[in-house]
Amino acid sequence: MRIARFTTGEDPQYGVVTGDVDERGIPADDAMVVALAGDPLYVGVKLTEEQHLLADVRLLAPVIPRSKVVGIGRNYAAHAAELGHDLPEEPLMFLKPNTSVVGPGDPVFYPSQTKDLQYEGELAVVIGRICRDVAPEKVDEVVYGYTIGNDVTARDLQKSDVQFTRAKGFDSFCPLGPWIETELDTTDLRVQTHLNGDLKQDGSTRDMIFDVATLVAHVSSVMTLLPGDVILTGTPEGVGPMNPGDEVDVTIERIGTLTSKVVARA
Ligand code: MG
Repeated sequence: MRIARFTTGEDPQYGVVTGDVDERGIPADDAMVVALAGDPLYVGVKLTEEQHLLADVRLLAPVIPRSKVVGIGRNYAAHAAELGHDLPEEPLMFLKPNTSVVGPGDPVFYPSQTKDLQYEGELAVVIGRICRDVAPEKVDEVVYGYTIGNDVTARDLQKSDVQFTRAKGFDSFCPLGPWIETELDTTDLRVQTHLNGDLKQDGSTRDMIFDVATLVAHVSSVMTLLPGDVILTGTPEGVGPMNPGDEVDVTIERIGTLTSKVVARA
């Protein structure tokens, strides 16, 4: 099931997206969104009679993390190598503030403090239940579903600051969407990033150093996870710069495509 958050111009609502998507995750023209009563993370899926053509609504970030987005660095060997790092012996964690989250189609603002803004297409895990110390074999019980994230990074600030808070924490540095897929086998999903239509990243989740179960278990051994928290699982090789005017698409097989446009910060 695909859970979206959307607006028709009024208050945001949640909905279930129905209909087929093509291999790039683009929905068919007749795809619909059936509105839900309340937030399904807290009240379950309660369908209403209200329906809209998907093309007639504006999708929003499918989840606003209640407390945090946890990023995982260097979780693909080829990406660690392209940045000149050894492989991590355990997952490398960092935080992005929930204020960095924006939705599909929203602008990513290019801050004046950086000269090297980069995309990182990633599988994003959405937590469904308050949890801590989750055993890897029980991770499915606490995962609500999966969406797509772009772990936008000011690469020069990441290097000069050493720690990642500023480089990954600006407003709009965490596009999420287009929806949450609640039924998904994450062992071998193609992850692709296109910049202005050119293929830049082309990886598979099978090449993760630490899989989803290991990551959720590891993060939850450090901090309590709340419903709506998000874990970004790391990016494949092929990261690179993006500039004002660029359009970046992150596509993950069986989820869809997350599109963002880079805009100079006024
Ligand atoms: Mg990343």
